[in-house]
Order: sequence, then structure tokens, then C-alpha cells
Amino acid sequence: MKQADIVVVGGSAAGLTAAITARRHYPEKKVLIVRREARVPIPCGIPYVFGTVATPEQNLVPDAVLDKHGIDLLIAEATAIDSQAKMLDAAGTQIAYDRLVLATGSGPVEPPIPGVTLDGVFAVRKDVEYLRGMLEQLKTARNVIVIGGGFIGIEIADEINRAGDTTVTVVEIAPHCLSLAYDDEFCVRMEDHVRSRGVTLRTGVRVDRITGGGRAERVALSDGTELPVDVVIVAIGAAPSVELAKTAGLDISPRTGAIVVDRAMRTSQEGVFACGDCADKVSFFGGVPSRLRLASIATSEARIAGANLYGVRRENIGTVGVWSTAVEGLALGTAGMTEAMARNHGYDVVAATVEGPNRHPGIMPGATNTVTKLVFERNSGTIVGGQVMGDVAAGEIINALSACIQSRMTAENIAMFQMGTHPALTASPIVYPIVNAAEMALSQLGR
Ligand SMILES: Cc1cc2nc3c(=O)[nH]c(=O)nc-3n(C[C@H](O)[C@H](O)[C@H](O)COP(=O)(O)OP(=O)(O)OC[C@H]3O[C@@H](n4cnc5c(N)ncnc54)[C@H](O)[C@@H]3O)c2cc1C
Repeated sequence: MKQADIVVVGGSAAGLTAAITARRHYPEKKVLIVRREARVPIPCGIPYVFGTVATPEQNLVPDAVLDKHGIDLLIAEATAIDSQAKMLDAAGTQIAYDRLVLATGSGPVEPPIPGVTLDGVFAVRKDVEYLRGMLEQLKTARNVIVIGGGFIGIEIADEINRAGDTTVTVVEIAPHCLSLAYDDEFCVRMEDHVRSRGVTLRTGVRVDRITGGGRAERVALSDGTELPVDVVIVAIGAAPSVELAKTAGLDISPRTGAIVVDRAMRTSQEGVFACGDCADKVSFFGGVPSRLRLASIATSEARIAGANLYGVRRENIGTVGVWSTAVEGLALGTAGMTEAMARNHGYDVVAATVEGPNRHPGIMPGATNTVTKLVFERNSGTIVGGQVMGDVAAGEIINALSACIQSRMTAENIAMFQMGTHPALTASPIVYPIVNAAEMALSQLGR
């Protein structure tokens, strides 16, 4: 039998962050991570193992961080929880705990498409051996079809395309790729960019079936076309992994299938917390259920769970939804609601978009155009969303916008924002995009 004060199940973004946070807040406590895999892939780096990073073995969360923080590790699958006795069963090893954090994450959604179990059809699993198997088959594949044009599908398609002499097609059921995260004008710019790099995008159609004698050979689309295929990659979302939570009788949301938690990340049973992709989420906007599953959300929740283990110190504000995507030379970032999303949720909004060089003067080396769109609630003038498109800086500009959203800043606050500028690094302070877009929104608001 083993014993630890705090046991964390899961060793990826949420589990590792919860364990580190627990050590920071409760340095006298013994912390143990139980995770099933010997090597943990960096989930967000997975698209790059198909091209830029080249192998799954070069995309790993370093275990050195465990030693650095004095966290113990047991590599084993946790199979059952007795929350009355405060015991965890990990492949036959009984572990006594005082506090338990479930960070069991998610697995890929596998759609009920006929032929999805054929050889050559893959989901995007956070599993080094599985990814290696995909890479082996991709080496000889001539035709690859990616089902799902979200950011994961687009990034994987572009990486496979850049890595070899392969015909890559993305099939997306919605009228535009990335439409769950960006307004149409941003989606179209990224679609044009991806197409210009040689990836075929088939939008507004669905995959009806995959056929072949034992392995995938053809994909039939809803518009009647059939495409030859050697490898199919399904990238249509993630579903929470809650099998272990069920053994403890924890409440599971019937709506989302995730572990029910309160704003302190406590589950329905005392002493048991949950965070990350396995935990239920509500939106920052109005507390409605949220199906977003992101590393940024997972680690934020983990910092809350880890701090609250022996008394509530932090509260979850809900999911803002901030993330970026990049395809060679073009980066997109989104935070909060898009204009379309806000209108669909019944918000009365104004949106302002500005476009201009990200250096001053615009002939400075490295200058590219940046498009910044801000969305404000009309009545209060509060920012509810932002989108940025440009070079790599979009990844950090969107984080600044997320801070504005989380602080519920108004257009007036943002118009008076004091930003740091430099000719070689940023846009001009006279037309700084965030500030400029806020000023434009104020004109529309008549303020
Ligand atoms: C290809 C890809 C790209 C992504 N890119 C981005 C991005 O750019 N930005 C972003 O914000 N998000 C991104 N995400 C989403 C992000 O990866 C997830 O939100 C994040 O991994 C969630 O972390 P987690 O720790 O909650 O869950 P997971 O990463 O799913 O980890 C769960 C852990 O629990 C372990 N586990 C589960 N059950 C058991 C058990 N019974 N016993 C022992 N161990 C168990 C697993 O083995 C794993 O270690 C991406 C996801 C994918 C798949």
C-alpha cells in the first residue's frame, strides 16, 4: 500500500499544474501523480509531430519538472476510487489519500461514420505509441483526408502537407473552417492561406462513409463525390474521460458528460476535486454550460483546484475561451465571443475592425498587416470578444485582449489603455490597433 496527502490522477496539462500548485500552497504535503503513460506528449504540440517537430519523442512534457517540485510519480492506470475509505486503486496498488484531484482529461470524439474502424483511420490521441503508428502509415500515404476543419484539423493537415509529397484534403461540415472560433472574414483569410499552401479544403460537406477491403481506400462525401484515401484522420473534438470518476459515484453532467464541479473545483464528494478536460465548465459569459476544452482552461482550473485543497482560496470565473492557431506566416487569435456568436446568444453588440502594419513606419523589417476586431456589448460598452490576425505576435496580443475581457473593460477604458510601443516591435502608438478599434466602437456607440 502507498500513501500520499494529495494524489493527482493524470499527468498532462491539468494534473501536472494541479500538483505543482498544491506543492506551492501546501509545501508540507506529500504529493503523488498517478498517470498511465510512461511518456506524456505535449498535447498542443501534437500537430507538429507530423512535420516541424518530426517525431512524437521530441514533443514530450519533461519529467524533470516533477523532481524540481518534489512531486512523486507512479506510472499506472487508476481503476477505482473508494471515496469513503479515501483509497485509490491503481493497477492493484492501493493508495491512501487525504485529497484527490482528478485530471483524467479527454479522448477524441469518434463519430459513428461507417468504416471508421478500418485500418488507416486514426483519431488524434494523446499517446506517443499511437502517434508513432500514424507517422509510419503517413510515410507511404499518397492521399490523406482530415475530417474536421477546426484548429487541430487545419494544423495537422498543413503539417502533413509540408512534410511530404502527399495530397491532403480537409473535409468540414460547416460552411467555413474554424467557424466555431472566428468570424467568417477571419476564417476565409486562413482558408485562402491554407489553400495557397496546397491543402484542399472541402467545406459544407460531411463524410458519409469510409470504404475499403480491410483498410480505408475511399471516402464518400454527402455531395456525392468519392475521394481515394490511404490515411484518414478524425479531428472533430474531445470528450471528457470520466470512467474513473464514475467508480467513485461522482456526479456527471448529463448535458456535457463531464465531472460536475463547483467554482472551487470541488466535485460532489468531499475531498475530491476535478480540473481540466474531464471537469464540467460554465462560460464566463452568463454561466451557461461550455464545451470548450483547452490547455489554458485546464491549467487555470488546476491552479484553482491545487490552491483550494485545504480551504477555498480561489474561484473559477468560467471559460473565456482564448486561443490561437498558426499556419506558416499567418497567425489567428480569438478570445471570448465572436460577433456571430454574441449575436446568436442574443447580445446586442457593436464590432470594430482595424487593419494596419505592426511596425512603424510600415517599411520597418518584419512589418506585416495585423487585423484586430473587437466586439462590445452595446448597452454597457463592455468588451465581450476579440480576434486578431497577423504574424506570431497575434498569440500574445490575444492574451492582452483576454485580460481586457476578464477585467470587463469598457471601450472607454481600452481607448485610454497605456501600451508600450517601439518601431521595430509594434504598431504606432497613434493608431495602436486595440486602442484604435475601441475608439471606432465608441463612435458607433455614440459616446
Ligand atoms: C492535437 C491537439 C492540439 C491542441 N492544441 C491546443 C492549443 O494549441 N491550445 C490549447 O489551449 N489547447 C489545445 N489543445 C487542447 C489541450 O490539449 C487540452 O485541453 C489539454 O490537454 C487538457 O489537459 P488535461 O490535463 O485536462 O487532459 P489530458 O491532456 O487529456 O490529460 C489527461 C491525463 O490523464 C491521464 N489519465 C486519464 N485517465 C487515467 C487513469 N484512469 N489513470 C491514470 N492516468 C489517467 C492521461 O493518460 C493523461 O496523462 C489541443 C488538443 C489536441 C488533441
